[in-house]
Amino acid sequence: MQADLFFKRLLARFEGEKARLDALDAAVGDGDHGTTMLRGLTRAAQAEAGRRAKAFMRASGGASGTLFGLILIAIEAHLDEGAPLGAGLATACERICDLGEVKVGDKSMVDALAPGAEALEGGDLDAAIAAAEAGRDSTKDLRARRGRSQYVEDGGRGHIDPGSVSVVMFLETLRDLGA
Ligand code: ADP
Ligand code: MG
Ligand code: MG
Repeated sequence: MQADLFFKRLLARFEGEKARLDALDAAVGDGDHGTTMLRGLTRAAQAEAGRRAKAFMRASGGASGTLFGLILIAIEAHLDEGAPLGAGLATACERICDLGEVKVGDKSMVDALAPGAEALEGGDLDAAIAAAEAGRDSTKDLRARRGRSQYVEDGGRGHIDPGSVSVVMFLETLRDLGA
């Protein structure tokens, strides 16, 4: 039940942030990050309980849909089945690093997710959000080595990575659920 509310709230949050995320992605990529996330989250909200993260993965499509879907699978398992969130996000992060061929410092969602997941091992979402925010903000001065941003001028240096912004919003939505 908690997962249903989470996906509903996440959809509402991304509806409000779609234009900002598209604009962030326009500076470093192809300008569709908000649109892509919203497409996936709309399908997730319509899907059967327990299958929402996978519906997101299928609907948002492309590499990033799969990568963000891995995070949502861990969150859904936590909310529906009580799976530990810190360990789930750490595993998702490892799989994202493997599939996306990224590590911390490459200017991607992983720069917010890795420190967030690590801080969560202590069980505190506020600490995880603070760590993820610091990681998100650190992407501004980085040059991208993966994803579309590696092809823009100076690897997108001077612009925050849009995927890292989404990761923080996932964690904030979780915290606001009080779960
Ligand atoms: P696309 O790049 O396919 O248009 P989105 O715009 O939805 O997908 O998402 C872009 C975000 O996805 C980036 O800001 C970055 O955080 C993340 N990303 C892209 N490629 C990778 C990768 N290879 N590994 C990890 N994260 C990635
Ligand atoms: Mg994009
Ligand atoms: Mg795209």
